[in-house]
Amino acid sequence: MPFVEPGRPSELTEETRRLFREVYDGDAVAIARAPGRVNLIGEHTDYNGGLVLPVALPHATYAAVAARDDRVLRIASGDDGEPWTGTIDDVGPGAVDGWAAYVGGVLWALREDGIELPGMDVVVHGTVPLGAGLSSSAALECSVALAACGLVGLPVDDDLRHRLVAACIRAETQVAGAPTGGMDQSISLLAVADAALLIDFDDDSSGPVPLHLSSAGLTLLVTDTRVEHALVDGGYAARRADCEAAADALGVPTLRSATLESVAGLSDERVRRRATHIVTEIARVSEVVDAVTAGDWAAVGRVFAASHASMRDDFEISCPELDLTVATAVEAGAIGARMTGGGFGGSAVALVPTERLDAVVRAVDIAFAAAGFRSPQHLVAEPSGAAEVVA
Ligand code: ADP
Ligand code: MG
Repeated sequence: MPFVEPGRPSELTEETRRLFREVYDGDAVAIARAPGRVNLIGEHTDYNGGLVLPVALPHATYAAVAARDDRVLRIASGDDGEPWTGTIDDVGPGAVDGWAAYVGGVLWALREDGIELPGMDVVVHGTVPLGAGLSSSAALECSVALAACGLVGLPVDDDLRHRLVAACIRAETQVAGAPTGGMDQSISLLAVADAALLIDFDDDSSGPVPLHLSSAGLTLLVTDTRVEHALVDGGYAARRADCEAAADALGVPTLRSATLESVAGLSDERVRRRATHIVTEIARVSEVVDAVTAGDWAAVGRVFAASHASMRDDFEISCPELDLTVATAVEAGAIGARMTGGGFGGSAVALVPTERLDAVVRAVDIAFAAAGFRSPQHLVAEPSGAAEVVA
């Protein structure tokens, strides 16, 4: 079965070290890895003060760094092309374009937080599919943040991890210019293996929800539709603006404080539907936590179905490829499936009895071919641990 493989951490660490040597003709001093994620449920709820329930993937981004004795900053991805080159003193908002903004933005945010950094050379490499709704952007940010901290010898304790979450969010929103919430950076830096992470954005608290899929005979299947969502990031910002308009109209700080009854009174029909999704989705996160804890997988499946319908009809962030993936997976034996991530493309997640895995993957592939869609790619989301310094 042609799954996107996560790769072995030891091998990817060595590959990254080798790439660093090829690009810069010197040795990396610190290397860190940070996972991508798939969100089980709770979409667009993070920036509404709500709940999310992501799982860290075994797929990760690796960042290798070495200090320089000048203020120059060079950034390379894999072995493609010349490194981006600038200085560590000039990578703040508006100063860097393209993907290097995620890296420069992190270093800027760390320095804003009082962490002294030298000029450095950076190479990133990894197995998180880009733009697939699996948070390659946060994996990139968090790997660079941890590698930079490893370089200057900061101990990676809980306090530092929380500081890095905040710095990586600033990098993404203020420098890379993607107005996302904090879910992706939180799960990448705070994940616990064999568990999902319940994050409450009302008070930024989080805690693991054990997820022993294999002993339940289940596999978490992620299908990347390969409809790239980065192209339509304006849709994300527009949803965020609708949510803010709803909160303003209701006189609440965030939609976390709204109820279905209060939302029903919103006069703007579109804003009302957007807010309905958020309020019901936050409730569904709690329902899934309870169902997972009780081992009631059928209930998880029902809530996934309701969540997908809400994103398709009320929040309008699905697309034909995601709808087809979800419908086909369930027909072929998945217990539940839903689109996941910011939407407008990207990936779907399905809870599949392991003996039905091949059948589900095949059915989705056939359905895509019949619809004339580009072939999707699949990966298995084994709930994995948090970002770490690996060398
Ligand atoms: P997602 O986070 O779901 O993968 P985003 O649109 O948020 O999608 O982020 C994808 C972008 O992040 C890419 O277009 C690229 O700019 C950047 N990126 C992430 N990982 C890498 C990498 N390893 N090398 C270069 N750019 C990367
Ligand atoms: Mg992203």
